[in-house]
Amino acid sequence: MFCVNCQTDVEPETVTGADIYGPRFAFKDALYARCPRCGNYGEFAAKDEPPYKVIPDFRLRRGYNYIDGVLDLLWRQKKMTKAEVLYRMAGLMYGHERAYRTRDIESYDEACRAYRLAKELKKEAFSHVQTVA
Ligand SMILES: [Zn+2]
Repeated sequence: MFCVNCQTDVEPETVTGADIYGPRFAFKDALYARCPRCGNYGEFAAKDEPPYKVIPDFRLRRGYNYIDGVLDLLWRQKKMTKAEVLYRMAGLMYGHERAYRTRDIESYDEACRAYRLAKELKKEAFSHVQTVA
């Protein structure tokens, strides 16, 4: 995996939520990939998904949370399905040359761009509100 903090490919250690946050953590059995050089960590992709390639640092991890905060709202409020959200983001970010996944983002600049585009998508989705005449 590519460690954003070390800026190099590393062979990650597999650790649990308890290893990182302690035994009282709600997702203590969840698996994380941890960089053996600097200790930064990233989530594992779901079993039916291709693995993530990036270990984010603290700043990028916070960026992921900002982006997902906006994108999750879109499908939770049924403005779009989750698949539609990811499809639109793939178009906006990469011109559909690759799939979009927040946790594939490798740099803070790219995360800022994704956040900006996510907010535009949200604006578009929420502007289609029915108004009573
Ligand atoms: Zn590292």
